[in-house]
Amino acid sequence: MKCDLLLKNGVVIDGTGNPRYRADVAIHNGKISAVGLNLQVQAATVVDVAGATISPGFIDVHTHDDRLVLADPSMQPKVSQGATTVITGNCGISLAPLGRTIPVPPLNLVADDSAQRFESFREYFDALEKTPSAMNVASLAGHTTMRAVTMQELDRPANASEIAQMQKLVQEALDAGVVGVSTGLYYAPAQAATAEEIQAVFEPLRGTTAVIASHIRNEAEQVLEAMTEAMSIANALGVRQVISHHKVNGRANHGRSVETLALIDEASTRGDVCMDCYPYVASSTVLRQDAVEQAARTLIAWSTAKPETAGRYVDELLTEQNLDLTEYLASLQPAGAIYFSMDEADVERIMAHPETMIGSDGLPHDTFPHPRLWGAFPRVLGHYTRDRKIFSLETAIHKMTGMPASKFGLKDRGVIAPGFAADLVVFDPEQVRDCATFTDPKRPAAGIQRVYVNGIASWRNGASTGARAGQVLRRS
Ligand SMILES: [Zn+2]
Repeated sequence: MKCDLLLKNGVVIDGTGNPRYRADVAIHNGKISAVGLNLQVQAATVVDVAGATISPGFIDVHTHDDRLVLADPSMQPKVSQGATTVITGNCGISLAPLGRTIPVPPLNLVADDSAQRFESFREYFDALEKTPSAMNVASLAGHTTMRAVTMQELDRPANASEIAQMQKLVQEALDAGVVGVSTGLYYAPAQAATAEEIQAVFEPLRGTTAVIASHIRNEAEQVLEAMTEAMSIANALGVRQVISHHKVNGRANHGRSVETLALIDEASTRGDVCMDCYPYVASSTVLRQDAVEQAARTLIAWSTAKPETAGRYVDELLTEQNLDLTEYLASLQPAGAIYFSMDEADVERIMAHPETMIGSDGLPHDTFPHPRLWGAFPRVLGHYTRDRKIFSLETAIHKMTGMPASKFGLKDRGVIAPGFAADLVVFDPEQVRDCATFTDPKRPAAGIQRVYVNGIASWRNGASTGARAGQVLRRS
């Protein structure tokens, strides 16, 4: 047997959650061709990875990389972590089919005046195939984007003709191959949308394998009500649901993940519900006063009006002003921030739940980004798995690979087995750790030795190889 590449003497953690085993992995034509001890194959390239772990490449299920995959196709913040696939279009925000529509916040997290715009997912996917990035891309279609395209005033529910237009956009996106849709009811342009509107707009999902990813209306006092609202929509349509970046915000709500996870368990008896989460006690999004007031502290991630404030805390900045909080925050807009608003015990409890996947929720265009952009996956492997021991390495890998591939319907991905795509990461389980911090947020992780995307080396010896082997992953 011949192959392009042979990774020899590794420890395979295959993504299914099953125990690790010693094996060689052979790769041919972008796919895994054989897995086993002492494979007798004629390989064009042999790499001895003795002592290292070989796992499927990580699937970042929660990203806002819609523009980054085109603007910086090296995708270093993600490839450096061992990720090989990103799912874009989360939180109701997708670059397609925004077209030339003005990107009101939070759509400005992915779209700006310099960016290429797309009238449809077909156009977006065509552009990605013409100029591939270093990673595979699957996408969700954002409800807020569709509202912005369809409605003149966003501060009311959609009327019947607007719903019909949005349904058409959903159907086009599904036909183009999106893996699902997303909502962001927390954000102003979607706050006026009712559950009835969303259910009607997403009607084309009925009977399909597409998912609904929900950034729910409230993650603080009304978290249970917001989850119930979101779950009722997916349940009525009979489709799988992903509760996005699940968390409970605000000191008064610390500990309430006990209640939210019980609600998920109860809902799982009726429908198909899972979650994603990122491994930090701070969240990050556009600058909002309610979020600042809820947080113990707030760090500015970017500000168009006062760029010099990026990387500084609001409480410190405020002491240098003669302004009250409302006036001062207004003077920074448009802006984004990092909010220290969660409890460590909640983060661990949510991450350890069997229906939780890992997603970075990184914001790649921020001046001073939340460190999750560069550190989420290695932080789970190092801090939470090796040091805190909240679950086994096999479980951690499953939450990053086999589980997301299955939840999002990514065929032949996320598992090490013959016939599956050769999306692989080779890492040192003793050394892997996140290096990005809240004071130095753009540092690549340690311990990630090699990353292969569709069989092509994309990250090696701490640097990008320059390969652009990513594919568009369409719903099959
Ligand atoms: Zn979100």
